[in-house]
Amino acid sequence: MSSSDPTLMEQVVNLCKRRGFVFPSAEIYGGFRSTYDYGPLGVLMLRNVKEAWWRAMVQLRDDVVGIDAAILSSPRIWEASGHLENFTDPLVDCKKCKERFREDQLDDPTTCPSCGGTGTFTEARAFNLMFKTYVGPVEDSANVAYLRPETAQGMFVNFMQVLQTSRKKPPFGIAQMGKSFRNEITPGNFVFRTREFEQMEMEFFVPPDEGAKWFEYWCDERMRWYQDLGMPADMLRLRHHEAEELSHYSAGTADVEFLYPWGWGELEGIANRTDFDLNAHAAASGERLEYFDQAAGERYVPHVIEPAAGATRTMMAFLIAAYAEDEVGGEKRSVLRLHHRLAPYKVAVLPLSKKDTLTPVAREVLSLLQPHWMCDYDETQSIGRRYRRQDEIGTPFCVTVDFESLEDRAVTIRDRDSLEQVRVPIDSLVDELRGRLTA
Ligand code: ATP
Repeated sequence: MSSSDPTLMEQVVNLCKRRGFVFPSAEIYGGFRSTYDYGPLGVLMLRNVKEAWWRAMVQLRDDVVGIDAAILSSPRIWEASGHLENFTDPLVDCKKCKERFREDQLDDPTTCPSCGGTGTFTEARAFNLMFKTYVGPVEDSANVAYLRPETAQGMFVNFMQVLQTSRKKPPFGIAQMGKSFRNEITPGNFVFRTREFEQMEMEFFVPPDEGAKWFEYWCDERMRWYQDLGMPADMLRLRHHEAEELSHYSAGTADVEFLYPWGWGELEGIANRTDFDLNAHAAASGERLEYFDQAAGERYVPHVIEPAAGATRTMMAFLIAAYAEDEVGGEKRSVLRLHHRLAPYKVAVLPLSKKDTLTPVAREVLSLLQPHWMCDYDETQSIGRRYRRQDEIGTPFCVTVDFESLEDRAVTIRDRDSLEQVRVPIDSLVDELRGRLTA
């Protein structure tokens, strides 16, 4: 399905709800302001997105280590990072209909898109996006804390601890995945923009004169990551920010953009943040946040290249890119052509009929596969309908157990994309599937 098809987004959102990827949160209470819950398939897929990121960014490298920092931490972090002062969006209220908007997102800043009123907006005021709360039982200003609006600061404030304990030296990176919170004025477009979301960020610390080189490197790496996981090249682009768009500390920023059904939009930001963050935390904390290069006998504050992606937004982009409709044997099917690493289930075990005689072998096959992969098991309805169900949730392989299996101890593997079916002995099933699931 083309990404400009006007019904694409609706199809994806419906599929997510119908099949248990993503539900509107608290639906029994009428929902809750653009928040979403991840259902049985969504939780698997989101884990797979994060796992694929961790694999590429940490597991397959020897120059990046991970951390998992606290969501609630010292408010001094946000003072030093500039978030308390600057992490704001320009908020305008329509005096007529009382709706609120982000001024920088209005097509026409003089006209209210909700009621059509012109000249009805208040002056824009800076609205801080951080969620504020109180730590401990007393709600006073001494106990204010914030839910982190990004994971990145965790890497800066733990820089020295990681440097000392991991024995890494620049160029090296610290990666983290986890929840972030922003009190967005206008959340929307499904999970594209929500107030609670997950990020996958990495801070790569480099010698000061190597910033430009590593910025280029990470732009290439990150573009490749999406494509290696099956994202079509024509739905991705790298957009370099113009000089006037750059934050004051940035020596270069590029967005990995995806062609959403409503147009190009950010998927990930890659920034050359120079030594801004380490210097800011060093000044505010009084601690030295530097690297001492013993060989050269010099001390320096590393520069930082930051690829910052959203896990939930990325999962949605993969769903949009993978959604397709085609015909099999004259019958329409919808299919998620997800890369096997991202698919919620890798394999579905389907006994041809519900007859008791097939159940023991089918269960045996399931137990054989479960230690290796997330598997589904389904014995209700016709085999054709069950194939369609698995296609629709992106399961790359179905394994069918039929009456012959009782005789020949073999089963049929069916491929979601080529529809090819091959018969393999149960004894070699794990090897056979492993060969297909490691690419
Ligand atoms: P945007 O311009 O879309 O608000 P941003 O430039 O503020 O995003 P960053 O601070 O660079 O975003 O965050 C890195 C990534 O985190 C984004 O590219 C996006 O994938 C994700 N992200 C940011 N805000 C949200 C949100 N409210 N909901 C879902 N994902 C988000």
